Amino acid sequence: MPAPTTPVFLHNGLLIDGTGGEPVRGGAVLIEDGLVRWVGRTPDRPELPEGARHIDVRGDAILPGFIDCHVHMSAPGGALNHAEIAALPGSLRTFLAAPRMKQTLEAGVTTARDLGGADAGHKRAVESGLLVGPRLLVAVAMLSPTGGHGDFRMATDNGENDSGMSRLADGPAECRKAVRGVLRQGADCIKVAATGGVWSPTDQPDDDGFLEDEIRTITEIAAGHRGKKVAAHAQGRGGILNAVRGGVASVEHGYEIDDEAIELMLERGTFLVPTLTTANTDPDPKKAALWAYAKKKHWQEVARRHIPHAIERGVRVAMGTDCGIAEHGTNLRELGHLVDCGMTPMGALRAGTSEAAELLGLAHEIGTLEPGKHADVVVARGNPLTDIRALGRPENILLVMKDGVAYKDVDGLAA
Ligand SMILES: [Zn+2]
Repeated sequence: MPAPTTPVFLHNGLLIDGTGGEPVRGGAVLIEDGLVRWVGRTPDRPELPEGARHIDVRGDAILPGFIDCHVHMSAPGGALNHAEIAALPGSLRTFLAAPRMKQTLEAGVTTARDLGGADAGHKRAVESGLLVGPRLLVAVAMLSPTGGHGDFRMATDNGENDSGMSRLADGPAECRKAVRGVLRQGADCIKVAATGGVWSPTDQPDDDGFLEDEIRTITEIAAGHRGKKVAAHAQGRGGILNAVRGGVASVEHGYEIDDEAIELMLERGTFLVPTLTTANTDPDPKKAALWAYAKKKHWQEVARRHIPHAIERGVRVAMGTDCGIAEHGTNLRELGHLVDCGMTPMGALRAGTSEAAELLGLAHEIGTLEPGKHADVVVARGNPLTDIRALGRPENILLVMKDGVAYKDVDGLAA
């Protein structure tokens, strides 16, 4: 594993830089001090720094590190059962997140936004080198109204709501307090429940969550804290509209998005994060509660009908998987699902790189392979423009570098 100070010259690759520009055959990237220094055709390379390590990627694809805008590292994926999660001591939930973070990085995701369940300690553990994982942005906990998507209590339970994943608030005054609470705990972004959802026991995905005035209060306070952005869990059409009118940066899921919402999102530049990975994951009838199973099957179908229309109309899309609800570690399957919904492979690659960086407010640092950006680089087997699904199989992700350090190196390319 090269130290961040070892310059690296990756060459002889199919370079796809994340900007949406033409791919470059025989492409190369020069990395120095953890940053991209130069990008271009191999024969045009500049004078290489002393001691630069040459890595011949033998025609495979060189891509920017991918960005997953919607994960839950503290949720197990696949076998979701809130009663079981709530029964885990907080420390165990955190320890269980550690291997998932590593697995996510090894799937090619070098930056991830955790939208509930992971506190600022997860992010700092990665930054300090204690844990291996993607660069993290955390929401700490989802803000939700009583009985909304963040309220995991059964109807007869009047005890405390599980506070690991969410905080309950009702009305603008309580929303102010709740958003300031997660900001105080180091939230990089804010997650709000604008509709009900599949896994919450007492609501439906087309029930309204926070109303427009509650959401606006939250977006205004977040904006006043160094421009922090708000992501809205929003599945039914009414809640999607409330969220967009309330000023959120992204609609997460957006399964019932309609023309009115599409128009408004186009006008305001609101992103859609369709989380097709979870939408396309069948619930396990042996593990899911009956009510959750029925909701999931119905809303999968709603998503399949509505999302392609939003993509066709050109709503800005950023990649997010909802891994934690879906299985961890195959995040780039999302790109294939986006293509199935009508996106071009290049469009899907942009959704997973430069567009996601735009949504996170990090476009000046990550999301493309351009001089001055963090050296977050993925080498993947084959040509993703002709076989986008190959990226969803982690065995095809051969090399993953974050800040110029190789964390996965299947063929010993960087050894
Ligand atoms: Zn989620």
